[in-house]
Amino acid sequence: MSSVKSILSRLVDILSGRYHSMLDGKIRKIQAAYCALDRDIEIFKKKTKLSCIEGCGHCCACSTVEASEAEMFPLADALIRQGDAEAWYAKAQAAGSSGRCVFYEPQPGKEHYGRCACYAMRPFICRFFGFSASVDKRGVMRFVACKALKERDTDEIEKIQDDVVLGAVHAPSMSEYLMTAASLDPSIGVDMMPINQAFRKAVEHVSLHRRCSHSRFGR
Ligand code: SF4
Ligand code: SF4
Repeated sequence: MSSVKSILSRLVDILSGRYHSMLDGKIRKIQAAYCALDRDIEIFKKKTKLSCIEGCGHCCACSTVEASEAEMFPLADALIRQGDAEAWYAKAQAAGSSGRCVFYEPQPGKEHYGRCACYAMRPFICRFFGFSASVDKRGVMRFVACKALKERDTDEIEKIQDDVVLGAVHAPSMSEYLMTAASLDPSIGVDMMPINQAFRKAVEHVSLHRRCSHSRFGR
């Protein structure tokens, strides 16, 4: 009986260890995809000479930003390691599922101008804002311009839209990058949900597996 127990215990150790390294692997793959996307966006910006309005936070100020649980793993993991996850988790919980992103810090008296408190670890959707393309119902790749840039650079945006349709300019494809998160684990990479909810789920997921792994290995 005791040998069965020790075999089971060993099996749990192995599986916990495997999941631990699988989770690290997933986080590394998402971070690598962030870097690839950032490079793609830089090329697109250089080619089109398009850039954000300084200090603008219109895209963060709305309450409709959505992300998947998997693409929030790098941020959740970094905050858990720093010991800050609990405080951010509580803020996200207080904001509810449909509230504005808790990482957005507006300037005093200027709701639509501000900064992101987790800029380096922001998910895919936040990197796409204003600089990506998606396939329309007819299967044509279209540039997705943000409202603020459309108002500021109307003519330039129209030209970029034409160039993307004609294939003269390559704009980073949203579906291509979102597939990265989805392919890591369809059960947590496909469903899009309000960003605060995705963040909470990612913290729960990562901290649970870190805790299991630490208790099994005494780390
Ligand atoms: S993408 Fe558009 S709305 Fe978002 S910060 Fe840039 S200019 Fe502002
Ligand atoms: S994570 Fe950062 S960039 Fe994304 S919505 Fe929140 S504040 Fe904006």
